[in-house]
Amino acid sequence: MIDTPQSFPEIRESVAKLCAGFPGEYWRALDRERKYPTEFVRALTEAGFLSVLIPEEYGGSGLGLGAAIAVLEEIHRSGCNGGACHAQMYTMGTILKHGNAAQKAAYLPKIASGELRLQAFGVTEPGAGTDTTRISTFARKEGDHYVVSGQKIWISRAEHSDLMVLLCRTTPRDQAAKPSDGMSVLLVDMRQALGNGLTIRPVRTMLNHATTELFFDGLKVPAENLIGEEGKGFKYILDGMNAERILIASECIGDGRFFIDRASAYAKDRQVFGRAIGENQGVQFPIARAFVQLSAAALMVDHAANLFDTGQPCGSEANMCKMLASEASWFAADTAIQTHGGFGFAEEYDIERKFRETRLYQVAPISTNLILSHVATHVLGMPKSF
Ligand SMILES: Cc1cc2nc3c(=O)[nH]c(=O)nc-3n(C[C@H](O)[C@H](O)[C@H](O)COP(=O)(O)OP(=O)(O)OC[C@H]3O[C@@H](n4cnc5c(N)ncnc54)[C@H](O)[C@@H]3O)c2cc1C
Repeated sequence: MIDTPQSFPEIRESVAKLCAGFPGEYWRALDRERKYPTEFVRALTEAGFLSVLIPEEYGGSGLGLGAAIAVLEEIHRSGCNGGACHAQMYTMGTILKHGNAAQKAAYLPKIASGELRLQAFGVTEPGAGTDTTRISTFARKEGDHYVVSGQKIWISRAEHSDLMVLLCRTTPRDQAAKPSDGMSVLLVDMRQALGNGLTIRPVRTMLNHATTELFFDGLKVPAENLIGEEGKGFKYILDGMNAERILIASECIGDGRFFIDRASAYAKDRQVFGRAIGENQGVQFPIARAFVQLSAAALMVDHAANLFDTGQPCGSEANMCKMLASEASWFAADTAIQTHGGFGFAEEYDIERKFRETRLYQVAPISTNLILSHVATHVLGMPKSF
């Protein structure tokens, strides 16, 4: 297949080689049981692919989002799923950017080596939804610690993480100067928290994503685990979200390439009415259209990553590339199902599994309507609707 020009070819080649050891059967078996891909995550960690964004002084490779994109895109193109561990790459950005020297020294080298897993990011709450300023999980300061009570939903990988970046209120919304003030970020040690004020309940979903619901009931978190300044947490979280959106967009690009690779190969091979189905333009054109859309989205992902890596504002581009990539991968997924006919629905072809997996990205980590609203009001200056 003709590809758009791709950066970091050596990284892509080694990731593809690693992923070849985790074929469809591996993912299908886990998917059936909703089990975590422990061996896959271990292999990525040992190969150093999850620490590419950590500076060299803390034991990482000191590369930018461009390299992280190469890793995640290849994982997804290979039919694997980076959703199990992508947060290990970028959640540490909150400590790197806003943590103090002691926190960076204590955590970053161990995150880089994989000794500590920081891949849980606790923001969403059932009562707040996308309106993050309405979160109500509260951290009350008592001497040298905070006491946390409340609830979170959709917190992925909480059972497979040693640490969690948690957003909570430290000032009630109605007492804060602005709704986005009065929220703070705490680093929660899950190993100590579990059973001591934190309960984790897995939520079964249509895809294997290890997502959970969290209940906090008087959980004690040392005050030294506050990241940055109290009350400024919303801003810190937004910083991390740009990286997250760009990286998830790269997973969509990888998914899209997987679907297009598979659909075009099947269309060349499958004989119906005495000829390859791919000889029919009704079969060719949707695959070609998927490729055109995906190629454009990939350029937007690269553009957003380049802005991020050069320290330029990239909030709108991060949103836009996530929207384009998630829609392009979904169109490619739908096309791959159609091209495969009945076999698109058969587990053993892996199309239906990837179809379910790639659908998530139009909802999480931010849904399409919220992106459109951002573009309409922040980029185009139209009036706010909420
Ligand atoms: C599998 C999975 C994993 C996740 N992992 C994490 C995680 O690790 N950490 C975490 O913090 N969160 C996580 N999330 C949460 C995810 O970020 C949210 O589900 C997502 O941002 C959408 O928020 P919501 O579900 O609260 O939808 P809601 O905010 O309830 O919105 C529902 C629908 O209404 C639309 N809508 C809402 N308001 C408006 C409006 N004003 N105008 C137009 N449309 C509107 C939305 O676009 C959406 O389509 C995960 C979710 C899933 C499903």
